[in-house]
Amino acid sequence: MPILSISYVNYRNIQDSTINLSSREVYFVGENGQGKSNLLESIYYSAYGSSFRTRADGEVVKKGFKDFSIKTLYKMENGSTENISIFYENDKKRIDKNGKWIKDRKELINTVPCILFCHDDLEFAVGEPERRRFFIDQCLSMYDLIYIDTNRNYKKILKSRNISLKEKNYEMLDIFDIQLVQNGIEIIKKRRDAIFQFNQIFGKLYEKITGIDGIFISYEPSWKSEETSNIVPTKEKVFEILNSKREIDKTIMTTMSGPHRDRIKFLRNGKDFISTASTGQRRLIAILLRIGQAIFYSNVTGKKPVLLMDDVLLELDPEKRQAVTQLLPEYDQLFCTFLPGEPYSRYMKEGTKVFEIEEGRWNERK
Ligand code: ATP
Ligand code: MG
Repeated sequence: MPILSISYVNYRNIQDSTINLSSREVYFVGENGQGKSNLLESIYYSAYGSSFRTRADGEVVKKGFKDFSIKTLYKMENGSTENISIFYENDKKRIDKNGKWIKDRKELINTVPCILFCHDDLEFAVGEPERRRFFIDQCLSMYDLIYIDTNRNYKKILKSRNISLKEKNYEMLDIFDIQLVQNGIEIIKKRRDAIFQFNQIFGKLYEKITGIDGIFISYEPSWKSEETSNIVPTKEKVFEILNSKREIDKTIMTTMSGPHRDRIKFLRNGKDFISTASTGQRRLIAILLRIGQAIFYSNVTGKKPVLLMDDVLLELDPEKRQAVTQLLPEYDQLFCTFLPGEPYSRYMKEGTKVFEIEEGRWNERK
């Protein structure tokens, strides 16, 4: 039971108070617009130092105020209690872990490994390719510090290379290419391995719920070796690709190849599955990706994640709801939002805490 409590000051519409969350399952029940998602957001915020709804931390401050803070207590595996405080003051954010200033959010890795299920996850199925790259990068970034660095380096070099192309300043291109290739190949290797492992989990989950077999996630790196995309290309091969594309890059004034252009597709019998899938089938893909993410995380780290489920069951028919609740991966703690009319008592376990949420205030149902 990792999260014990959160204390709020000026956080969105949430009352300035401390909520006691020390239970393995916690449900937030309330009408629309009362603050259920805000509470989930605050848990995520403590875990990763940022919101899943906005990049602008200032948006989180309660209307009419300038600063906010949240302080979260959580329990370590060894039973000790630690804390994370986030302060937003004078338009700046500061994160402290056990009273010590954290300069890079990546230091929060493994503190409270949250997996968020929310409506926008549908974009992983139907959105731009960037959304699927984001998903797989997020799976890796949950535990792999080196991947976080490699990815950041790649993006930085790519940005510089694109600026050079825009400014028609080509002197540095050779040097950028060396760094781009080095980091890019590492990204391809790790994405490929992660998707390989993900495929061991995902297709089976989908079949269990829908009876549809053979769903396969295909990884198509933009830089591929000639024979097959299953082989990570050699440095020499990637230089060859970059050189062959350099004139096009100069004309279009941006880098046209590399991991930032990788494609990830959902296939069935070798054909694109999404274009012919029903809305419900797409929705299910998104939910099962999140369940897969939790299983993947546990497989790799041997630890159980914290699940944050925002209105997830609401969008499924009753039969699939039941199936999804039974397929939930092992978790350390589960937070779930419900509308008052939903049959949430059906899913409750012994000790489940239920909070009724109204205008940012909570009332624990006994
Ligand atoms: P739904 O069931 O519709 O998803 P919800 O209970 O999840 O509803 P939230 O998104 O958590 O609702 O809360 C939305 C409420 O929070 C709205 O009433 C909104 O006005 C309020 N709110 C959002 N940001 C702020 C802020 N910075 N200051 C004050 N109130 C805010
Ligand atoms: Mg909500």
